[in-house]
Amino acid sequence: MRTFNVLVIGGGPVGMAAAIEARLSGLSAGIIEQRAGTVDKACGEGLMPGALPLLERLGVTPVGRDLVGVTYRSGDHSVTHRFSSGSGMGMRRTILHDALRSRANELGVIFVEDSLQTLRSHEKHVVVDCQGGESIRGDYLIGADGLHSTVSRQAGLFREVSVGRTKRYGIRQHFQIAPWSEFIEVYYTKYAEVYITPVSNDQVGVAVLGPRATDFEATIASLPELAARLEGAAPSSQRSGAGSFPQLTAARTKGRVLLVGDASGYVDAITGEGLRLGFAQARAAVECIVLGQPQMYELRWRQVSRDFRVLTRGLITLANSPLRMAIVPLASRFPSLFGFIVNRLAR
Ligand SMILES: Cc1cc2nc3c(=O)[nH]c(=O)nc-3n(C[C@H](O)[C@H](O)[C@H](O)COP(=O)(O)OP(=O)(O)OC[C@H]3O[C@@H](n4cnc5c(N)ncnc54)[C@H](O)[C@@H]3O)c2cc1C
Repeated sequence: MRTFNVLVIGGGPVGMAAAIEARLSGLSAGIIEQRAGTVDKACGEGLMPGALPLLERLGVTPVGRDLVGVTYRSGDHSVTHRFSSGSGMGMRRTILHDALRSRANELGVIFVEDSLQTLRSHEKHVVVDCQGGESIRGDYLIGADGLHSTVSRQAGLFREVSVGRTKRYGIRQHFQIAPWSEFIEVYYTKYAEVYITPVSNDQVGVAVLGPRATDFEATIASLPELAARLEGAAPSSQRSGAGSFPQLTAARTKGRVLLVGDASGYVDAITGEGLRLGFAQARAAVECIVLGQPQMYELRWRQVSRDFRVLTRGLITLANSPLRMAIVPLASRFPSLFGFIVNRLAR
């Protein structure tokens, strides 16, 4: 049976970051990823400034488009904040994926193209039975299998979202057009938010977040300034969606299983966060494995995720309330508070 010190389920950006962290710590690492080739995913594709040093220490320096801050817009109101901790970066997921994959290959991470079917936890190891029939063993297992994590369910770590809680979804598509701003732009409508992320010199990503029936085209059409900018721009990717949010977990570690990235629970994409957080979780998980203290990861996960959880929960509560349309006017009235929140998320 193939055996690894660290077996990762899910070869998305966070799973690959975890496997690279493991190799950099001298551990053998294997990744089971169900999709072949370069994996794309619905995402706003804004890497916060704090994500870049985390990638750099993995030896990954993909090229994207500098992002200097965030602008919120709603009707006649707008507020802009420049990141105080340096620039972030807009980047196609495909470019990020290829850069992480080639670094993982260089370090000897083994990729297995298959899908986790069952997970069996033992005192000293974990065995994964794959759909293709192979069983693979890990001294530790890192679940990085995204929003609808099978690992979190099979390890008994998944928590149902309470009935009645608002569920939200994301849809994104790219357009062939030179970016008109070096800021991430966020437009608030009555029901949805629209994120514009420059991802290269001739392409912008448009991500719409809102309730289930949110119509991508109608939402953009309801924003005349944005609709005018995008008029005539050819789509340069397939439209794709993701959701629902939130996805919850009761705990992040059980025995030798540790959850990272969206698999460990994801509040919402409203703050344009996820990747920096996932890279920080991957690093913390491997540090706990190296110490032989997987149970310590729960505390470390809470520490690295706290700002994201508190600020995203706060913003989503406001966005789902009758005060929704007051968010941007309030932020423009109190720009230093808006700047404080953006900086906390950007770190
Ligand atoms: C609309 C939208 C906008 C967003 N905008 C931003 C943004 O601007 N900036 C930001 O930082 N974050 C953003 N996010 C969040 C970000 O996309 C996620 O946090 C990030 O993709 C999490 O990475 P991951 O590796 O944990 O999961 P994923 O990227 O989902 O990867 C999981 C991988 O696991 C694989 N997998 C799943 N099940 C199995 C299985 N059973 N066996 C084997 N493999 C399996 C999948 O194929 C996939 O490759 C956004 C999210 C959405 C939906």
